[in-house]
Amino acid sequence: MFPEMREKYTTTMAPSESTPLLRVVDVAPQRHRYPHHKLRRFCTFSLGMLLITSLILFLLPSAVFPREHGSIWSYFPGAHPFPHKSWPHGYGLSYEELQAILQTTPSAEKAREWSSYYTAGPHLAGKNLSQAIWTQERWQEFGVEETSIVAYDVYLNYPLDHRLALLKKTKDKTEITFEASLEEDVLDEDHTSGLPDRVPTFHGYSASGNVTASFVYVNYGSYDDYQDLINANVSLAGKIAIAKYGHIFRGLKVMRAQELGMVGVILYDDPQQDGEITEDNGYKAYPDGPARNPSAVQRGSTLFLSIAPGDPTTPGWPSKPGCDRVDPRNLIPSIPSIPISYKEAIPLLKALNGYGPKASDFGKSWQGGKLGSKGVEYNIGPSPNDVVINLYNEQKYTTTPLWNVIGVIKGAIPDEVVILGNHRDAWIAGGAGDPNSGSAVLNEVVRSFGKALKAGWKPLRTIVFASWDGEEYGLLGSTEWVEDQLPWLSKANVAYLNVDVAASGTVLGPKASPLLNNVIYEVTGLVQSPNQTVKGQTVRDVWNGHIGTMGSGSDFTAFQDFAGVASFDLGFSRGPTDPVYHYHSNYDSFDWMDRFGDPGWLYHEACTKLWSLAAAKLVETPVLSLSASDYGVGLGQYLKNIKPGAEHLPGGGFDFGSLDGAIAEFQAAAKQFDAYAADLASQLDEDLPWYLWWKKVKLYFQARVVNDKYKALERAFLYEPGLDGRSWFKHVVFAPGLWTGYSGATYPGLVESFDAGDWENAQKWRSIIIERLEAATKVLQ
Ligand SMILES: [Zn+2]
Repeated sequence: MFPEMREKYTTTMAPSESTPLLRVVDVAPQRHRYPHHKLRRFCTFSLGMLLITSLILFLLPSAVFPREHGSIWSYFPGAHPFPHKSWPHGYGLSYEELQAILQTTPSAEKAREWSSYYTAGPHLAGKNLSQAIWTQERWQEFGVEETSIVAYDVYLNYPLDHRLALLKKTKDKTEITFEASLEEDVLDEDHTSGLPDRVPTFHGYSASGNVTASFVYVNYGSYDDYQDLINANVSLAGKIAIAKYGHIFRGLKVMRAQELGMVGVILYDDPQQDGEITEDNGYKAYPDGPARNPSAVQRGSTLFLSIAPGDPTTPGWPSKPGCDRVDPRNLIPSIPSIPISYKEAIPLLKALNGYGPKASDFGKSWQGGKLGSKGVEYNIGPSPNDVVINLYNEQKYTTTPLWNVIGVIKGAIPDEVVILGNHRDAWIAGGAGDPNSGSAVLNEVVRSFGKALKAGWKPLRTIVFASWDGEEYGLLGSTEWVEDQLPWLSKANVAYLNVDVAASGTVLGPKASPLLNNVIYEVTGLVQSPNQTVKGQTVRDVWNGHIGTMGSGSDFTAFQDFAGVASFDLGFSRGPTDPVYHYHSNYDSFDWMDRFGDPGWLYHEACTKLWSLAAAKLVETPVLSLSASDYGVGLGQYLKNIKPGAEHLPGGGFDFGSLDGAIAEFQAAAKQFDAYAADLASQLDEDLPWYLWWKKVKLYFQARVVNDKYKALERAFLYEPGLDGRSWFKHVVFAPGLWTGYSGATYPGLVESFDAGDWENAQKWRSIIIERLEAATKVLQ
């Protein structure tokens, strides 16, 4: 109480009954509880505004700022959502510094050294564990510590015994006119040609059998060649076919012969495919010169590759120990086949002289056999009943482990992965071209990236290196691995970059998903051509610029056609005046490579640079360097190319309008999308001032979205039920040709329906393709 109050109180009367219940009591003047009420209002207002502003600031970015997998907190100053602290620039090394290491590290000498290791002894699929371990050790030494050996149990064959003889039957006895050696000559100048444990001549997945029958020359053994013979009333059932290698995958030659009731197949390399470089033209044969050694034999697989690659007992799932297995009979031949040299084909072909029509009586594709100077007239046959061939082939079938070597350099972004692969297994002790020019080059690529790691480089994306086993039998190692890793690959794999034969000549021959075209164009312009007819010319300067479509025939198949991963395949192959490449023969050897194939080993070096620079481009640029527009152009071109095929449909008049329309829509979306991506990339090139930190965050998330879309684009072309009669192949744009195997068929579902004259199926495939095109367009919108 205040003193004056107390006083007032004490001086008044004590309350009595008459005291009013209410009376005025004087108190001190009322005072404001909050004396600075203006300030208070201001504070309330400000606080309120702050709350509202923060709410807006919080909600607005949530609504308008992209943040993909990140949270909105990423936009707060100092949140730093980027994959590494130097983003969008290189971390540890700038992109230019990385490129410099990749340009200067690869050495021709080292490639030669790796080649001499791989080609020193036999390394068939499932028989090269020591090479797998050696490869793992080298990669770890180079700096890729996370390297492991991944094994699968696959079903395949190894040769036991064989015989091929020409017999003349008379009334009471059978005379041997010719007994084939089925051996390649041992050459002093080629040190692996005479190894005691050299690999016999045989076919992968060929059937065991012992048949004696008269025989027919079937040209290349293509579907059309057999059809020409049927049309000419040449009897085929019960006969042995003798065919030239070339044009189509060898397994399909056997597949068609089998369908037509033939009982065996003999395949040989005619000097016809050697172009100018033949003994007839005055060139000496290997080892004295660049022409084909007459005893050279092409081994190879006869798997029905265009139906499904990989282990034929596990189509679509990985060959793990104890897994389910099916009867492989639909994927491998049931009739025996044998490969021979042209030297040993001559007596067989001469035995047909005078029998049946001549190849020259048939169309253009039948002309040009080059054994005329050796007395071969290229009669079709069949040989008379008393002139027969005995073909005996004994194979041991087994389920055996094979070994992929997988090396990983972890990047800052875990779900964006670039894979580089080459196979290691070969048909022969050598394999200096196929595949170990690629293996030597892969080692140089790994060594180059290892050097960058040692210099402090931290990659933006993950790189995986793969040394596949079992490619030769039918893409076994890569296919089983892709089937095994499918969920992860579908989520994370940006691109697969394949090199099989890195160097067997001087001509660059890439094939690719169009998404990767511009990467190829760019890196070929960065690498000096080994051929310096004009000083300073690049690989691009001497290349015709043609990029082929994806078919099959190497390890990209499972990535491109089954998993929908944009892939390329590159390497230098034989040009018309280059020495003859002895494909799958004992003479694809270190000695051949060192003297004829790539004497300076400079094509090995150039291929290393192309491959690693392409990988660097895909791994390091903040916005993926892919081109949807090129895909659009490709889609249009492929459709144009197949349109004439519709004339096979009875009545013709197939309507392509809706397909044209869907492609046009894709092309428009692709162009817009690429332009947006390019704009993002150029914004990232500018250095943003610190106070625009949020803009950099925004660009980061925009780039993430763009990259996800580029990654998903190829997958959109997968049709889950797969192609007709070969459901393993899921891509509606690319597949190996059903009857070619190697070369790419485009819009295979549609083309096969045209070929079959099946209207209903053609309409079905038109709808499926349009649906996939629309899905792809949607990815880009
Ligand atoms: Zn190969």
